[in-house]
Amino acid sequence: MHHSSSPLRSIPDIIQANLCIGCGACLTTLPPQNGQMHQTNEGWIPKLTDPSQSWPSSAWEDCPAKGLDLGEIYLKHFHRYPEDWRLGVVDQMWIGHATNPNVRLQGASGGLTTALLVHLLETHQVDAAVVAHQGKPTPEAANWEIVTNPKMLVELAGSVYIPVPMLAALPHLDTRKRYAMTCLPEQAAALRNLQLRGDPKARSITHLIGPYTGTALVPTAIRALLRSHGVDQQDQILYLRWRAGEWPGYMEVRMASGKIIRSPKVYYNFLIPFYIWPPSLRGIDFANEFTDLSVGDAWSPNFERQGKGFSVVISRNPQMTALLKEMEAAGKIHLEPIATPEAAEMHGHMIDFKKRGSFIRNQLCHKLGIPAPDWGLAPQPLGIFRCLIELVVSALFFLGSTTLARAIMEHVPPAILGPIFNQLRLMWKALSKPAKRHGLRNLTMIPYTPLWKTSATN
Ligand SMILES: Cc1cc2nc3c(=O)[nH]c(=O)nc-3n(C[C@H](O)[C@H](O)[C@H](O)COP(=O)(O)OP(=O)(O)OC[C@H]3O[C@@H](n4cnc5c(N)ncnc54)[C@H](O)[C@@H]3O)c2cc1C
Repeated sequence: MHHSSSPLRSIPDIIQANLCIGCGACLTTLPPQNGQMHQTNEGWIPKLTDPSQSWPSSAWEDCPAKGLDLGEIYLKHFHRYPEDWRLGVVDQMWIGHATNPNVRLQGASGGLTTALLVHLLETHQVDAAVVAHQGKPTPEAANWEIVTNPKMLVELAGSVYIPVPMLAALPHLDTRKRYAMTCLPEQAAALRNLQLRGDPKARSITHLIGPYTGTALVPTAIRALLRSHGVDQQDQILYLRWRAGEWPGYMEVRMASGKIIRSPKVYYNFLIPFYIWPPSLRGIDFANEFTDLSVGDAWSPNFERQGKGFSVVISRNPQMTALLKEMEAAGKIHLEPIATPEAAEMHGHMIDFKKRGSFIRNQLCHKLGIPAPDWGLAPQPLGIFRCLIELVVSALFFLGSTTLARAIMEHVPPAILGPIFNQLRLMWKALSKPAKRHGLRNLTMIPYTPLWKTSATN
């Protein structure tokens, strides 16, 4: 791979370049009192308590915002590359859901993640679960939470579509205990990297579970959506759920004034081009490939027709498969085997958006001298037409994020913008499908030495 420059060398460089993904990995080797995460309009950034101190060199090594050497992590963690690069290493795969109707309803897709966390706690296989908590410290904010009460796990079920600094929980863990944790893909890769380095806090995570991850939103998206629904800026948010109600669910926000906003998932998707969280455009992992268990929505007309909640479930090792079989035998979850090709087809669009889209976007930045991560994996095949499509996509995201475009969005009522956006999205999907799906079935990722590694030795 040829790149023109790599100006990044430290955590302050990452923050300065607006690349920080706010995961908290850099705090891992610090005592909890020496550094914290701070909330911003765009997410979270780390700060040293004493600004005259400097970051330990390990913080830079651990930082996923510059990219990580994913090929190397693959070999060290799984001892192999995936057979099918679209979904990562698979031990077994199913369509599944929790059998408890309340857990299934509370869950984002089928509640299987929550059922598993509850099972691990109830059977004392872990001492606590580290999960995302929408509503901490305020209803519109989200942070990590260490949970020992199964009831609370059910309350905190559901997807959180704004950034959560999950790895900032690590300094607070007790290395004599065992934990389950939920992470987004870049955090999961960073956690594996920390575990491989022998970090004792990271090693206390014995079960790593993660959602398939397409896109997240910057926190300012919430107020923008409320304004577009005519909610007064002064009206306080009392409660917010991203995926309330029956699958696929709707976003629900309750205001102090008594107003309740409900927006079906397909409609608040229109926030994405305007308020996408920028790291969503830079990560190449959709199926959360470094977890023990990955769970996504089972998008297919058959399941969507039924509602209720269905997930696609990937166990990445025999221990996790045995655990799920144990839960199935105890009647806690329902599982139906599914073949890799069928499962991969459900998410072809997003797999391409990450594996080829993010790669092209990052490469484009490198060529232009704009800081971007490097993951050390290049997709093949990658035709010129696919690259051109990406220029259109990048231009749309760029235009969408401008103040003018955001202001226009807010002035069109969601009841109009939602359906229009949905139609446009489906049209664009159909139009770009031939280029985006071309060669996807045979996609491979070719490892190379990432830019930040080569420039470190220059
Ligand atoms: C930002 C984001 C984007 C996603 N994009 C897609 C997509 O494009 N396609 C798709 O098929 N699925 C996507 N998902 C996954 C999907 O929404 C469900 O999370 C997944 O199917 C698991 O469902 P479940 O019912 O088993 O989870 P639940 O039983 O509801 O449990 C979810 C668990 O994950 C934790 N969690 C939620 N959000 C976060 C977060 N941000 N960081 C860390 N932990 C978290 C919760 O605390 C909870 O413990 C996305 C999820 C997220 C968070």
